[in-house]
Amino acid sequence: MIYNEKYESMDLNEKKELQLRRLKKMVKTVYEKVPFYKKKFDAAGFKPEDLETLKDIEKIPFTTKTDLREAYPFGMFAVDEDEIIEIHSTSGTTGKPTVAGYTKKDIKIWGEIIARGIVMAGGTKKDIIQNAYGYGLFTGGMGIHHGGYKLGANVVPMSAGNTKRQLEIMVDFQSTILSCTPSYAMYLAESIEKAGIKKSDLALKSGIFGAEMWTEEMRDKIEDKLGITALNIYGLTELTGPGVAMECMAKSGLHISDDHFYPEIIDPKTKKPLDDGQEGELVLTTLTKEGMPIIRFRTKDLTSINHEKCECGRTTARISRLNGRTDDMIKIRGVIVFPSQIEAALLKIDGLTPNYQIIVSRPESLDEVEILVEATATLFSDEMKKMEEIENKIANEIKKEIGLRVKIRIVESESIPRSEGKAVRVIDNRHLTK
Ligand code: ZN
Repeated sequence: MIYNEKYESMDLNEKKELQLRRLKKMVKTVYEKVPFYKKKFDAAGFKPEDLETLKDIEKIPFTTKTDLREAYPFGMFAVDEDEIIEIHSTSGTTGKPTVAGYTKKDIKIWGEIIARGIVMAGGTKKDIIQNAYGYGLFTGGMGIHHGGYKLGANVVPMSAGNTKRQLEIMVDFQSTILSCTPSYAMYLAESIEKAGIKKSDLALKSGIFGAEMWTEEMRDKIEDKLGITALNIYGLTELTGPGVAMECMAKSGLHISDDHFYPEIIDPKTKKPLDDGQEGELVLTTLTKEGMPIIRFRTKDLTSINHEKCECGRTTARISRLNGRTDDMIKIRGVIVFPSQIEAALLKIDGLTPNYQIIVSRPESLDEVEILVEATATLFSDEMKKMEEIENKIANEIKKEIGLRVKIRIVESESIPRSEGKAVRVIDNRHLTK
């Protein structure tokens, strides 16, 4: 099933024409309506009429998170404030928050792209979506909500947390689709086991998981524990929220709604465009956004792109699983490490759970890494010697992945704090200035 056959399975040349037409209009609008873009384009010597082909987008300067922060709160809006009907914001944990404003049409399109995603997860209007993404300024809750409405499905606005109630509702309402962060899905799965609820008591068939990095290994665990198909959703507040891209049942990349977002992959260092299949930084441009259009936004997310038709029949461009953000990279003794590499190595070992924390410190002049990982009760043993053996095995597996020797500490089940939103994977005690 495809939600919007016309746009999701569009002929590629026709798609390019549509993108160019929309891009031209978008560039002209921001130049006229948003002083930030006028200033930026003028400084770069770019005029909207210089855009004749899609490739000409490369002449336009990038927009960065810093630009959005400087425009806080409403400096990037392209319409009068009375046309804005909803506002979201990032949490601002890594700096000043950034804001996104939506017009009526923007909300309609947001619903549309998420409805496409719910259908990719096998959803129909008959489904009961247990939406355990946080409701509030965070885009996760409301985003899925708008999508469920658009599709005509039944959305249960659970928000994150209150795990006991989540389980009751899941059983009593017979929820069929679960949406939340992958770490919370894992926590729910553990809680289900602990509560003695059997898979047969549940009606869950699929999950829409995103808003944080997760690996294939983590997917396998969640699918196995919940008996569902777990799919990846991608998005960012700056562009709209979740739904910019979503995985279909073929699990071979995330389909970008590229009639609304124009994707590019660049080399983050040289800023030059990369070809299909090459890994680089994802750059996105909104093609239809009214409230807060964004041109060439540097997402800092690392991925590659594929324009071939998918086996599901969709022709929208696909991005590969996002393995990390340039922001998530940790530099340890000069080596670049992504938490996803550590997660992949940990989950290759039987008896370990996806609950882990990476602690980086610099006691003297050398960086040290300690990884705390929870083991299942069967693996967790008091026998010191056996423990050491397993820790060694884990350290070897990680060394293969990242090339560095790290310290491993297997800890008892439930000793690492659980998160109801995004999991805290890295604790950097080095206090380095970035
Ligand atoms: Zn597909």
